[in-house]
Amino acid sequence: MTDCIFCKIIAGEIPSRKVYEDEDILAFHDIKPAAPVHFLIIPKKHIPTLADATEEDIPVMGKIMTIAGKLAKQVGCHDGFRTIVNTGRVGCQEVYHVHVHILGGDKPLGVML
Ligand code: 5GP
Repeated sequence: MTDCIFCKIIAGEIPSRKVYEDEDILAFHDIKPAAPVHFLIIPKKHIPTLADATEEDIPVMGKIMTIAGKLAKQVGCHDGFRTIVNTGRVGCQEVYHVHVHILGGDKPLGVML
């Protein structure tokens, strides 16, 4: 996907502050942090939204969810964090390459739901 910002970050065409990378996924700090810790975990495969994920994406999406806690601890979330996946127009998704937001820090983030 040549016009996808996150594909460009994966390709190294746009710089990012990396948290983690392997052959399937990339984690990097959000450019406009909404909490003291705010990073994104994305699959390297271009999946536009969570609603577009299929059975073949189960391993990579599972990897993202199961590595989240370890990465969050590494960057300073020692007592929990929040995960958000905005999906589509109603979910106010801005970048159409599926991503999981990890938000945290030392203080409680406040109740959303
Ligand atoms: P969404 O609203 O799609 O769930 O969130 C997209 C997120 O990507 C936003 O929090 C935004 O700040 C972040 N973002 C957009 N462009 C860039 C970029 O070029 N670099 C980084 N690191 N984050 C970005």
